[in-house]
Amino acid sequence: MDLYEHQARALFEEHGIPVPRAEVTDSPQEARAIARRLGGSVVVKAQVKTGGRGKAGGVRLAADPAEAERAARRILGMDIKGHTVGKVMLAQPVDIETEFYVAYVLDRAAGRFLAIASAEGGMDIEEVAAARPEAVARIHIDPAEGVTSAKAGEIAEAAGLPPRTVDLLVRLWEVLVRQDAVLVEVNPLVRTRQGHILALDGKVTLDDNARFRQARWSTESIAYDDPLESAAAAKGLNYVKLDGEVGVIGNGAGLVMSTLDVVAGCGARPANFLDIGGGASAQVMADGLGVILSDPAVKSVFVNVFGGITACDAVAAGIVRALDEVRLTKPLVVRLDGNNAARGRAVLDEHAHPLVQQATTMDGAARRAAELAKAS
Ligand code: GDP
Ligand code: MN
Repeated sequence: MDLYEHQARALFEEHGIPVPRAEVTDSPQEARAIARRLGGSVVVKAQVKTGGRGKAGGVRLAADPAEAERAARRILGMDIKGHTVGKVMLAQPVDIETEFYVAYVLDRAAGRFLAIASAEGGMDIEEVAAARPEAVARIHIDPAEGVTSAKAGEIAEAAGLPPRTVDLLVRLWEVLVRQDAVLVEVNPLVRTRQGHILALDGKVTLDDNARFRQARWSTESIAYDDPLESAAAAKGLNYVKLDGEVGVIGNGAGLVMSTLDVVAGCGARPANFLDIGGGASAQVMADGLGVILSDPAVKSVFVNVFGGITACDAVAAGIVRALDEVRLTKPLVVRLDGNNAARGRAVLDEHAHPLVQQATTMDGAARRAAELAKAS
């Protein structure tokens, strides 16, 4: 789960990392008042969960409150790489001397966190890394040791950051650990003409598996970029929006992943990932169907269930009850296999919903769902 820049900024401030004074708003008039509070001149920044806002016109320097209001009016509602700007942050401008880059990111292959740092910050770090890999320092962090002052000194030296960044590097690691983040990034980290070190832009990605102990980030405060993902999260569903036309529901992440592959193998594209888990209750099935059917891109739905501890007849009964709750508007192909499959199929046959078809194999069901999506 990504945080907005202003949320990352607030975390940095709590952990003693120097950041410019800033406030957030969704109103141009209020932007003017904030600019007045911050001393007149401000940087107006789009709050969207994507980088490259500067290049897209989403970061503007305003000389006075009236200009801040105009800049906020132009930026609010703007589309940046498919993200609509709903809020702007107004920050006290900083007299930048040099821009640096620093991040801690989970390196899954190595099973460790990786510090990435460069004296060439500000722009796209991927571009720097591609053009001049020697300008980017990459140092693994021992999870038991963390980033001590000595480790931070090593990172700063390898990247060519000024020694005065060491304290910030230690604190940034504390943000990662305390907040259960899998990524913290500061780009740019700047040295001002007055010689101060400041975090000017921040990105924080939280570990979704730790949300139970990071209760301050409610679903509402984080706001998903996709309205369907937001609706699914509100219902506690394990849903990811994809850009195809065959809706997919399955029990177990592994089964759903392979269902996506099989659908793609039939020449169609899956519209989503949705794992309803082992229990597969009627309520979860109804909630899942509700989200998938409200996706206008979906042309057909493939329910792929392998009965294990929860037997297929229980799942079939759940599907029947879900069909009472949700008005089915698109064809549904169901494949039930495993524990009590025959009884489960009989339950669905008996219900005889005109839009529901059954298939006995995963391949057959995927082919049918793909055909139905193409035919509609
Ligand atoms: P991004 O483009 O989405 O990464 O947004 P950033 O917050 O990193 O801003 C992009 C660029 O705008 C930075 O690299 C800076 O060069 C510039 N910028 C941002 N804030 C300030 C500021 O307070 N003063 C000045 N002079 N430039 C700023
Ligand atoms: Mn940036």
